[in-house]
This record gives sequence, structure tokens and C-alpha cells, in this order.
Amino acid sequence: MSDCCHTACTTEMPSKKHVCPVNGQKYMQVSIRTMLHHISSPWEWTEKEQGYYFCDDPTCDVVYFGEDDSVIKKADTRTVVGIKEDKPDALTCYCFGVSNLEAQRHPDIRDFIVKKTQTGICSCDTSNPSGRCCLKDFRVEAKSSR
Ligand SMILES: [Zn+2]
Repeated sequence: MSDCCHTACTTEMPSKKHVCPVNGQKYMQVSIRTMLHHISSPWEWTEKEQGYYFCDDPTCDVVYFGEDDSVIKKADTRTVVGIKEDKPDALTCYCFGVSNLEAQRHPDIRDFIVKKTQTGICSCDTSNPSGRCCLKDFRVEAKSSR
């Protein structure tokens, strides 16, 4: 019950995984609906009848890839994927606009997000390029920092 994504978010994905053709790691499936909210000029993109996946490796240039090993790279998205960027102003939480820096500096923001997601006020499935809840992406610094 404490995990927001199982109580509130409607982003349950089939746990199908596929290997990123660039870094060789397995990643979770992402919905077409999510992808269309983040890729550049989605009207020019040809969707195929296959699974698509989200690569969250910060060092890998691939954001989305298909079962056919087709890739959509960082340059092909209109969203700056915070999890892939070391930039402090890139977003960790897309639903509430929490930057990477804010997420690190203010661990209490995470509590706010947990509360809001528990009441269903989040839009991870479209706002977050991963299509999933951002809470796992909070990389909080040592507690002593504040
Ligand atoms: Zn990758």
C-alpha cells in the first residue's frame, strides 16, 4: 500500500523487457501513448506493431527502442530526459516540475509527491518520458546535508 504506483497511478505496464541495442541492458516496456508525448514530430514517426522500451541509462544515447532494434535517441525527443542528463535544471518529476537539483536538495519534496500520487494526482504515464512514477529516480544526497 505504501508504494504509490500500485495504489494510485494507472501506469501498470506489462513486465516485458527487451535489450537496448546500444548498451545491451534490458529495459521495461513503454506505451505508445507515452512515447507520443515526448518524441519530436510524432506525426513523422511510423509506429510499428511491436513492443517499445525505455532505456534509462544516463550514458546511453537511446531513449526509446523497439523490438526491431529501431531507436529514438535523445536528439529525437522534445523532452529533456532528466534521468539521462547531469543538468541540475533537468526534471526528475515531470508531474510537479521538480528539477534534478531540487530533488537532491529537498528530500521532503518526495513526501509531497508520495502524498499526491496516493490521491491520484499524478500523470506519470504521459508526463514522464519513462511512463512510470518518478519516485525511483530521486537520488537524494546524504541526509546530513540539511
Ligand atoms: Zn540504451
